[in-house]
Amino acid sequence: MRILVTGGAGFIGSHYVRSLLSGRHPGYEDAQVTVLDKLTYAGNLANLVPVVQNPRLRFVRGDIADARLLAEVAPGHDAIVNFAAETHVDRSITGPGDFVPTNVQGTQRLLQAALDAEVRTVVQVSTDEVYGSIDAGSWTEAEPLLPNSPYSAAKAGADLFCRAYHRTYGLDVRVTRCSNNYGPYQYPEKLIPLFVTNLIDGQPVPLYGDGLNVREWLHVDDHCRGIQLVLDKGSPGEVYNIGGGVELTNRELTERLLAAFGVGWEMVSHVRDRPGHDLRYSVDSGKIRAIGYEPRVGFDEGLAEAVRWYRDNPDWWRRLKAAGR
Ligand code: NAD
Repeated sequence: MRILVTGGAGFIGSHYVRSLLSGRHPGYEDAQVTVLDKLTYAGNLANLVPVVQNPRLRFVRGDIADARLLAEVAPGHDAIVNFAAETHVDRSITGPGDFVPTNVQGTQRLLQAALDAEVRTVVQVSTDEVYGSIDAGSWTEAEPLLPNSPYSAAKAGADLFCRAYHRTYGLDVRVTRCSNNYGPYQYPEKLIPLFVTNLIDGQPVPLYGDGLNVREWLHVDDHCRGIQLVLDKGSPGEVYNIGGGVELTNRELTERLLAAFGVGWEMVSHVRDRPGHDLRYSVDSGKIRAIGYEPRVGFDEGLAEAVRWYRDNPDWWRRLKAAGR
């Protein structure tokens, strides 16, 4: 089995690659893995250090929007798992145009390359943010796409290209839509690593608005196991939500993080709310549970482990924060 992992040097993609090469996905112990990554500010070869000596890993630096490169790299692979994307909502608000070339056009070119190279299966890693915001209840995969940020609009565009490549050309492409992830190696612009690394340094944490926005948090390892399950047991053309984590308001999450450092609300600086800030996300994971998905990492345990990881690996995040990109 040869798997092309695009965006495999980022937070979630590198977790997937590390777990695949460590034999943690049964049946894939011999998988050959090609990582194709542009190494944007969010891509980091340090994320692959634990597996860099593995002879089953090959790294190619490049862009998923580069059709010529894809025509060289894609042939011979059995599957493509696409993590490559611009991912930070705040950056999409200040630079919406930057999110189209990778998230929309890059995904389309990758689908075309998969078709041309007769790659058996593509898994597109999408997000629950494509559904918009929900006041009560949970989204099933049948909900309409109502994205509110340029980030989620670009991800929704990619999802629609996946549907079109399946319906028009019969490509076996499967889409996953996961809730918010947390864990080690997450770029320190995202809420949990930003707050944790600020608190390690005795700095205040910036909380948007009233902090009542609700997010469903899932450990990155549970997300990656869900992706692998969809690759293994999912059906062509289908979409699978991945959730089952814990729902918390940003205030509640902040409280837990403050408690982990033994400090109080004096460490919180309130900042103006993000424009178009979605109030609540919540996915119904019934469809993926029906093919065997079950999250394993309890939130308290996962959060404590993540805090420990950032405490134990200051060199990893200090370099990124100092670069200030
Ligand atoms: P990340 O920003 O940490 O990593 C993105 C990776 O993609 C980086 O390694 C970057 O260098 C690479 N990349 C960007 N543009 C590229 C291009 N044109 N060609 C090749 N590589 C490129 O992101 P992440 O948090 O690991 O997210 C991975 C995927 O999961 C994304 O598609 C995201 O939409 C999705 N997702 C993320 C979350 C979350 O909470 N982080 C939740 C649900 C879904």
